[in-house]
Amino acid sequence: MNKIYFDNAATTQIDPSVIELMNGVMSNHYGNPNSTHSFGRSSRTLIEKARKSISKEFNVLPAEIFFTSCGTESDNLVLISAVRDLGVKRIITSKIEHKAVLNVVKFLELNDRINVEYVKVKANGLIDYDDLDQVLNTNKQKTLVSLMHVNNEIGSLLDLTTVGDICKKHDAFFHSDTVQSIGKYKFDLSKLNIDFIVGSAHKFHGPKGIGFVYINKKLKLNPLLIGGNQERGLRAGTESVHNICGMELAFIDSYNSIEKNKNYILDLKNYFIEKITSSIPLLKFNGICEDNNYSTYSILNVCLPVSKDKSVLLEFNLDLKGIACSRGSACQSGSNTGSHVLNSILTKSDLEKPSLRFSFSKYNNKSEIDKVIKVLSDFINSN
Ligand code: PLP
Repeated sequence: MNKIYFDNAATTQIDPSVIELMNGVMSNHYGNPNSTHSFGRSSRTLIEKARKSISKEFNVLPAEIFFTSCGTESDNLVLISAVRDLGVKRIITSKIEHKAVLNVVKFLELNDRINVEYVKVKANGLIDYDDLDQVLNTNKQKTLVSLMHVNNEIGSLLDLTTVGDICKKHDAFFHSDTVQSIGKYKFDLSKLNIDFIVGSAHKFHGPKGIGFVYINKKLKLNPLLIGGNQERGLRAGTESVHNICGMELAFIDSYNSIEKNKNYILDLKNYFIEKITSSIPLLKFNGICEDNNYSTYSILNVCLPVSKDKSVLLEFNLDLKGIACSRGSACQSGSNTGSHVLNSILTKSDLEKPSLRFSFSKYNNKSEIDKVIKVLSDFINSN
């Protein structure tokens, strides 16, 4: 059975060239990058080259990029350290952020008595910028705004320029969880009013267990992990050289082929929309994911006209046919509370129907889409 992988927002297939490169680094560059001998120096050279590649793409200084273990760690570092080191007393975020932000914000509210406010999210999954402006206006406490660029469940996009300008007007720090958009969107950080962005290699065909954070050079944060002086004192622990090199190659490759990949994946998404709309006319799209002006090109979230009783069999049926997609987001599977994102935007009756997230990559094709839609419509039409 040929398996079909439409769960690229959960994680992506690692590029074969990345695996090859990482194997070479593990075999030939095993020196500790903090050692001063030649083995150590050759590892150090690779790390600093990777830092340079990433900073160059974003038009920032290499010293503004720090390597971490994942997107979650990067988000934690920014939020916790901003409260501890930058005098942040209030965080404004939204109810549709990833748990890597939402649960840290809740932790800070409970433990550090930070004032937390949630900006309005429209029924289409877009952030209400007027509300953000108003909430920022309500008090003059030192504030950090944390809003994600691409929503990992429904694909809705944030306008980073608009939000950055609003934050600047109110003298607030701006952190954007860009985990879903690194490698898919270009960022000229020298032109945006943004203080922190984060990335995770496994979302752009790199290895798991490696990420990075961009921290504006004007801001000084202290580490969460305390120990050695790695990452210029911001993150202790011997650097994962092979992972950093793998992330660099996946990063460079994504940006070198960004237009080609974007056009290819967008064409898949549009094809999926056209096919599924004609095969399952009663289906609904969640949020604004079918409007490519306001949502990313790789994510579609659909609400299916399936009764509650039958919906328990849906995922089982797809899995049996070798099809991987996601109900809500992968990070929540096993939880019975449902998706916090869909809970924020759907009506009660739509929440009772099953919703599926399909997320595409350069490794997918149209014949896979045909197969998935046939399986879905056969399931819906069966008794
Ligand atoms: N933020 C967003 C928007 C994500 O989609 C994810 C992963 O699903 C994360 C953060 C966490 O990233 P990581 O898996 O690298 O910890």
